[in-house]
Amino acid sequence: MKIKVRTPLVEMDGDEMTRIMWAMIKERLIHPFLDIDLKYFDLGIQKRDETQDRITVDAAHAIQEYGVGVKCATITPNAARVKEYNLKKQWKSPNGTIRSILDGTVFRKPILLKNIPPGVRSWAKPIHIGRHAYGDIYRNVEYVVPGPGTAELVYTPAGGAEPVRLPVHEFKGPGVLMGMHNTDASIRSFAQSCINYGITEKVDIWFATKDTISKKYQGHFRDVFAEEIERHQSELDTAGITYRYMLIDDAVAQVVKSQGGMLWACTNYDGDVMSDMVAAGFGSLGLMTSVLVSPDGKYEYEAAHGTVMRHYYEHLKGNPTSTNSVASIFAWTGALARRGELDGTPDVVRFAHTLEDVVLKTIEGGVMTKDLMLIAEPKVTKYALTEEFLDSVTERLQASL
Ligand code: NAP
Ligand code: MG
Repeated sequence: MKIKVRTPLVEMDGDEMTRIMWAMIKERLIHPFLDIDLKYFDLGIQKRDETQDRITVDAAHAIQEYGVGVKCATITPNAARVKEYNLKKQWKSPNGTIRSILDGTVFRKPILLKNIPPGVRSWAKPIHIGRHAYGDIYRNVEYVVPGPGTAELVYTPAGGAEPVRLPVHEFKGPGVLMGMHNTDASIRSFAQSCINYGITEKVDIWFATKDTISKKYQGHFRDVFAEEIERHQSELDTAGITYRYMLIDDAVAQVVKSQGGMLWACTNYDGDVMSDMVAAGFGSLGLMTSVLVSPDGKYEYEAAHGTVMRHYYEHLKGNPTSTNSVASIFAWTGALARRGELDGTPDVVRFAHTLEDVVLKTIEGGVMTKDLMLIAEPKVTKYALTEEFLDSVTERLQASL
């Protein structure tokens, strides 16, 4: 008897090696066990090109409608990809498009295994990272100053009041200049997404800025974030979740010395840098999961890595591959568990947790792909090919259901 998933799940297919693994995962681990209505969107690069990228927008709207989606990694085309796939245009990043429609925040979480020791010895629990994904240097205006001159910051109120002018620097010679911004609405929705995530994942929330130096810009992030925390204080108390505000340099030191187990809410640049530090610290990109959470509680799950292009080219040449499917499997289990929780169907939640458990036991039992074999302790001498790993997981799953 297959387990019934009550509400449709939005599925977004992708590109290259992850697309190959995606099909294997569905065939082996999803369809044989679940009676599920998948709202399928093919976000593979050809389909996006064919539909003028309409398919990505449709997928995002479907997530808004149904509440939960699961996404395969996709190519963000650069000039080389435009040539490779003969594209009409350098289409925007699908993740960026979906994120801006859902107004969501991306959270990353590593998968911990007994035989894959983290680089930082004290880390015993996952460190979740939430990255504010709007503004700051990612939407900056910058200028290479050619020579002596005056730089000012000018704000002209829409109502016609007097402009505000602030001196930036009196250049005596060449230099550089940058202007950046953020909005209260965006900081607020970031804070709300972090609060949602902290409550659903049951982890404490840490937030940090450099407000000792940037008293107004970064100080404003601290204040707006704190206002949202205050507004949700009773929900946080009920869930037993504490909020800690720190200076960013203190936070970095505290995180490295900690056991993990917190949500580290980061401003845009800090999140960009720190999520790569945390991913490397925990072992492999193949073990990093990612979820986009909107302030109104819509969820999109995916692996944090890309389409693993190098492995795909090997695959195309007919060579065997050993690509880690764990983060992609966990994208499915994350989405299914959330779907089950929202639907009030504990058997779906249980299935998702069983599958996660089976994946962990498979690796802890010594069956793993090459990326993990290289860092496993105790050492293993043989690695599983992409399909061999999935076959082992399938066998164990059948045995444990
Ligand atoms: P990538 O797919 O993350 O892979 C980079 C390297 O990391 C791989 O060559 C491989 O190293 C290792 N790796 C990553 N995931 C792995 C896994 N599951 N199993 C084993 N090894 C893994 O980045 P990329 O190859 O530079 O980018 C390919 C495409 O992905 C690009 O077009 C980019 O736009 C896209 N991308 C998409 C997303 C997304 O959709 N979320 C995110 C990032 C990038 P070795 O070669 O050493 O084995
Ligand atoms: Mg980065």
